[in-house]
Amino acid sequence: RLEIRNLTRRFDGRAVVDDVSLQVMPGQVTCLLGPSGCGKSTTLRMIAGVEMQDSGSIWVDGELICDTHFRIPPERRRIGLMFQDFALFPHLSVAENVAFGLTGSAGEKRARVETMLDRVNLRRFIDAWPHELSGGEQQRVALARALAPDPRIMLMDEPFSGLDNRLRDEIRDTTLSVLKDADAAVLLVTHEPDEAMRMADDIALMRHGKIVQQGAPYNIYNAPKDKEAVAFFSDIN
Ligand code: ATP
Ligand code: MG
Repeated sequence: RLEIRNLTRRFDGRAVVDDVSLQVMPGQVTCLLGPSGCGKSTTLRMIAGVEMQDSGSIWVDGELICDTHFRIPPERRRIGLMFQDFALFPHLSVAENVAFGLTGSAGEKRARVETMLDRVNLRRFIDAWPHELSGGEQQRVALARALAPDPRIMLMDEPFSGLDNRLRDEIRDTTLSVLKDADAAVLLVTHEPDEAMRMADDIALMRHGKIVQQGAPYNIYNAPKDKEAVAFFSDIN
């Protein structure tokens, strides 16, 4: 379970993330949805530990991982990352990519890599190179890699934005089922209402650094809180 409390980050005196509090339960996908520049990626970077907040705290399974006095380094947070530009390592094979964050003996790593590639239906590519895979296949390998160390939390920042429309729908479905299996608490960032409606159990609508509305997709879609939320959702068709 991921919990962030009153997280604030300022750049040049401007609060880019402004007193954001949020909880994500294991096995659930929460979408941080909002227009470009509203502070979504900054929020994820603070949770990942690569950006420091000015105030507020971050908790995983009831354990403090970061506040303004205390900080567990990113690699010890058991957080999986999947970002659009967080591509596979081109000089490593598929197996080596998936094994990258793993510890243990060579045999243990290999077994885990095989399990993960089975989950994304790409076992046959275990000894392939990233450039031999399609964009969608690479994305599935990236998912296998992120989930291989069995993270408690999974952070995804616009992970499908590089894919064409038809492929994107397919990958979203695969990703959702693999994530549900992994039972991680997932925080997925998107600026597309359509993606949030498809994938989220819970949507947090963000604007100018603040969460302005939160709830089940159906509820938010049917009862947007204000004119701006209506306009934002009217993109869906
Ligand atoms: P997008 O949908 O375009 O990815 P976002 O919601 O992820 O947008 P952020 O990347 O979190 O937005 O940025 C929020 C605001 O903070 C933007 O105005 C951005 O210019 C500003 N910002 C982010 N990082 C920095 C930085 N290191 N220094 C100064 N300003 C920054
Ligand atoms: Mg962003």
